[in-house]
Order: sequence, then structure tokens, then C-alpha cells
Amino acid sequence: MKLTQTKEELRKALGELEGSVALVMTMGALHEGHLSLVRAARASAQNVVVSIFVNPLQFGPGEDYEAYPRDLEADMALLGTVGVEVVFAPAAEELYPREPLVRINPGPVAALYEGKTRPTHFAGVLQVVNKVLNLVHPDVAFFGQKDAQQLALIRTLVADLDIPVEIRSVPIKREESGLALSSRNAYLNDEERIEALAISQALIVGRDAAARGGAPDSVRALVQRHLEQAPGVTLDYLSLVDPETFGEIESGTAATRGLLVTAAWVGSTRLIDNMEVLFHE
Ligand code: AMP
Repeated sequence: MKLTQTKEELRKALGELEGSVALVMTMGALHEGHLSLVRAARASAQNVVVSIFVNPLQFGPGEDYEAYPRDLEADMALLGTVGVEVVFAPAAEELYPREPLVRINPGPVAALYEGKTRPTHFAGVLQVVNKVLNLVHPDVAFFGQKDAQQLALIRTLVADLDIPVEIRSVPIKREESGLALSSRNAYLNDEERIEALAISQALIVGRDAAARGGAPDSVRALVQRHLEQAPGVTLDYLSLVDPETFGEIESGTAATRGLLVTAAWVGSTRLIDNMEVLFHE
């Protein structure tokens, strides 16, 4: 496993690889969710490249860019358990020697849901995803369903700019309790960890209600009620969207598949989660 921290070191390390390359992009503070992406990558290509980069461009003012957990040594140890050829962990100045002038405009979906609370977030995400894809030029890149809106926007980026890479998604990895694994779970104290369970539980209530024949409107309302009533949880948004287009499933419309997407504050920690629901015809 080679650790590279500059573009030049990365270029050299990539030059020594033979065969197909799978990429997993992360912000570090790695957990089993990230490792499930790395394992999927491992199974799909001869070489796995993992990037670790806390991307300043995707954090808004007052967000947790400075506080975001960073522990390269622990990350390297975890990656060593799966087997990775190259780790790319550049400093911010390496990727952004100056403010980039040419910017990705992520389009209208980036203004919805996550983008309502975090208006510059997806422009920053797509900027760095585009850069790292250009630096690594992998055959395939893996992203988590945990960040479902991000995944949809990355698919759009790749399609609209004809980036020669295959994008694959990996299901959300959860604790046995249902809590979706996230680097930000490290911010939660014991009480908040329990309060946070209400998020996945509310989504499960919605999924089950749909399975029993509930219509989209009533399922969304039910989940919303659960989240609003959950102690210690402050709902940011809950939406029911088309899993492919991320367009909102509007009131009164019939749908066969939907994605419940939500963000909520537990104490001062903002958590996101989502779940696919299947409606009866
Ligand atoms: P992050 O380090 O938060 O930027 O995440 C890096 C990648 O790991 C993204 O593609 C995430 O969607 C994915 N990821 C994070 N948490 C999970 C999880 N619990 N299950 C599956 N994928 C995840």
C-alpha cells in the first residue's frame, strides 16, 4: 500500500500499476461504511485507489471543516486490512494552490434537499470529484448510497461531461441499531446516539407503511410526524423523491418506487439518511 500526498507521487504510483483501477473517494475518518466501498472496489478491479481529502470547497461558512475528524494513521491501518494499492491523501494546497476560477455548476437538483441548507455544498463536491477522477482516471468509481443526492449528482456530472468512468453505488452500511454509519457519528454523545436512532426508525416505519399499501402522501406524512415527535431530533428536511431523477414525488401522484431522504440535527450534529420504499400499484 503506497501513500501518496502530491499529484506527482500519485502519478508515479499509478504508472507502476498494471490492469484495471477502481477508485473510492473519502474524507477519511474511515469506518465500515467506507470499507464496504473499498471491498466492492477490491472485487471489481485489479487495483484499488482510495483518496482521503477533507475538501474545503464543500463546507459552508460555520460548518465543521476545521473540526472534521482527521486521523491518517488510523485510516491507513483500516485500509491495510482490506488491501489497497494506492492511497492519495493530499493537503488542501496541493489540490487548490489557489482558488479555482473555473467552477462546476451542478444544476438545479443541487439546490434541493441538502442544497437548501448547504447551498454551495454540491458545487464543491463535484469540483473535487471531477479533479480526482481526472488525476486517477479509474475504470470504475464507487460511491455510497448513504449520500444519495451526491450519488445522483455525480452520475449527472459523469454523463453530462462524458467522463470515461463507470459509477457504481454501494448500499448504506448501518449499525445493528439501524444508525447509518457516518464519520460525524463521532460527534454524538451517548444520549444523542440513542436519540439519533429515531431517524432510521422513522424511515423504516415509512418503508413498512408503503409495503402495507400506504400511498406516497400518507407515507411521507407518517415519517414526518415520527421525525418531528422524536425527542432530541430537529428535522431539517424530509422528502420523498424519485430515486433516479431526485425529482420530488408530488402530492397526489402515484409512484411505484420512492426514496425517503432526510437530514436532522441531533444536538449540534447534522445527520443524513435515506431509504428506498416500494409502493403498491
Ligand atoms: P465521506 O468520507 O463521508 O465523504 O464518504 C465517502 C464515501 O463513503 C461516499 O461515497 C459515501 O457515500 C460513502 N459512505 C459513507 N458512509 C457510508 C455508509 N454508512 N454506507 C455506505 N457508504 C457510505
